[in-house]
Amino acid sequence: MATGKINVSVENIFPLIKKFLYSDHEIFLRELVSNGTDATLKLKHLISIGEAKVEYGNPIIEVKVDKEGKKIHIIDQGLGMTADEVEKYINQVAFSGAEEFLDKYKDSAKDSGIIGHFGLGFYSAFMVAEKVEIITKSYKDEPAAHWTCDGSPEFTLEPADKTSRGTEIILHIAEDSLEFLEDSKISGLLNKYNKFMPIPIKFGTRTETLPKPEDAPEDYVNETVETDNIINNPNPAWTKQPSELSDEDYKSFYRELYPMQFEEPLFNIHLNVDYPFNLTGILYFPKLGNDMQIQKDKIQLYQNQVYVTDNVEGIVPEFLTMLKGVIDSPDIPLNVSRSGLQADGAVKKISNYITRKVADKLKALFNENRADFEAKWNDIKIVLEYGMLSEDKFYEKAGAFVLYPTVDDKYFTLDELKENLKENQTDKDGKLVVLYAGNKDAQHSYIEAAKEKGYEVLLLDSPIISHLIQKIEGDNSDLTFVRVDSDHVDNLIKKEENAISKLSDDEKAALKTSLEAYIPKAYTVQLEAMDSQAAPFIITQPEFMRRMKEMSQTGGGGMFGMGNMPEMYNLVVNTNSDLASNILNTEDKTHQEHLVKQALDLAKLSQNLLKGEALTAFVKRSFEMIK
Ligand code: ADP
Repeated sequence: MATGKINVSVENIFPLIKKFLYSDHEIFLRELVSNGTDATLKLKHLISIGEAKVEYGNPIIEVKVDKEGKKIHIIDQGLGMTADEVEKYINQVAFSGAEEFLDKYKDSAKDSGIIGHFGLGFYSAFMVAEKVEIITKSYKDEPAAHWTCDGSPEFTLEPADKTSRGTEIILHIAEDSLEFLEDSKISGLLNKYNKFMPIPIKFGTRTETLPKPEDAPEDYVNETVETDNIINNPNPAWTKQPSELSDEDYKSFYRELYPMQFEEPLFNIHLNVDYPFNLTGILYFPKLGNDMQIQKDKIQLYQNQVYVTDNVEGIVPEFLTMLKGVIDSPDIPLNVSRSGLQADGAVKKISNYITRKVADKLKALFNENRADFEAKWNDIKIVLEYGMLSEDKFYEKAGAFVLYPTVDDKYFTLDELKENLKENQTDKDGKLVVLYAGNKDAQHSYIEAAKEKGYEVLLLDSPIISHLIQKIEGDNSDLTFVRVDSDHVDNLIKKEENAISKLSDDEKAALKTSLEAYIPKAYTVQLEAMDSQAAPFIITQPEFMRRMKEMSQTGGGGMFGMGNMPEMYNLVVNTNSDLASNILNTEDKTHQEHLVKQALDLAKLSQNLLKGEALTAFVKRSFEMIK
């Protein structure tokens, strides 16, 4: 038997491993199963190039829990190691790897959030074990080796009688880690980290009922067999070519990823690139509401089919973190902090590629089946609108597929919208006026008024729409967006001549004076000669002020410091209405005040502005009047 001292500069590396990675002890299983997988894939490769002259067979990796003996076994049928190789790879490579890892980790630990805690490898075993054994037999014709280490730098290495090829790692679980001896714990971990690893992983057995033979007698009792319980799918959809997969394959993979999710995804995007970096994956568009927060952290990041994390911040462009699915790339550096990621050129390239690919796919979907795309628009728009705001590359491509729906469910691209509005909807400066509503119910009367005039009204109801409109106007000098309740349509769109005013200029001045005497300062009175049947009082809110206010509320760049902006409204009074004449001609000042206040309250009521005490007073006053 050989004994020795592992050559490390840190006298005792294990307490350090435990301390630094305290929260992540569970990754030991991922690391050891990964090693078994690597050993198996290496053997496959050696056989394929004629380097190893052995039978590959159907190798699996087995995880066994021995609760009584307080042991976990991880057994592979890979290439194994000779005693010399154990000396070299475990005592030297693995240790130096662990040391290097700790060095790096110490610096970046302050910078919270190391991506994947990858690369600790074999020594992560000591996070949960007080003693580790390796029993291994190489595919080469050499005796098996048995290595033992109790966590100090001393180890023993002796021959073993193992005859089958491969490696068995035995973990003697430490007292503070006994939770890992629970089957449910281990199967939970295998399901989290190893669900899509490329070599079948066995954990326990399950009883399978064999089908009844055709000639079975009536009293036939079905036979059962014990079979290996394989916990993973070694060939997940993202590792295949898009041409091999049907719509149903994509959907069933989605169910495999999210077994608790009953809603089907709307679209999928298969990512597949091998130059200048390696990346595969499938992204799904789930049905999204207007809430931008709830959906995050649903994309899983893998490296060579090994699960790393579900926090892909910094890797996937932010607007796409609302999607679901899988990304697999060995080219994403993992032992760096999140802030380190941003500075990484490869990561930037990957992020840009994903943006471009998503834009291209959306364009293709739009072109292939526009009706379907329109039907799904409301469930995906939040991602696309956010993408236009946050990623210039996406914005450039978005014109080809981003839609602007009307209140009547017609859908235009921006170019189509411009074409459609031409001539019909321009302001006094000749700009196209895009009328839009933010809420069909709240702005019902304004929408109706605009439609009656034959104008197209869009329905733009995302929480970030003000920001987007601002950006679109900035890039399209021929357009101006105006919400239907922002200004009176007749005033806005110079199409037909306004109606002739019934009132003389002197009468108008007198009316204005009377109105201003009774209404609050926040209102600017505007007199307009409209159809006598149109509403006598209408409240509008200037587009610019309202938009700025909304943008400061939804956190727009550069909007800070605007603080609480004052409410500002216009009160548009129809001088041709009977009510206007009535107010003008009433001698009794008290009655005149009543008329103005009641009319203002009604106008407020129609725009949802009458609340609390004012509403109570209004209702009370109205009852008095009809009594
Ligand atoms: P890494 O896998 O990143 O190289 P590890 O510390 O996990 O680092 O392992 C060190 C080395 O030990 C591996 O490179 C490999 O040569 C060898 N090794 C570890 N586990 C096995 C195994 N199950 N079968 C064969 N060789 C192994």
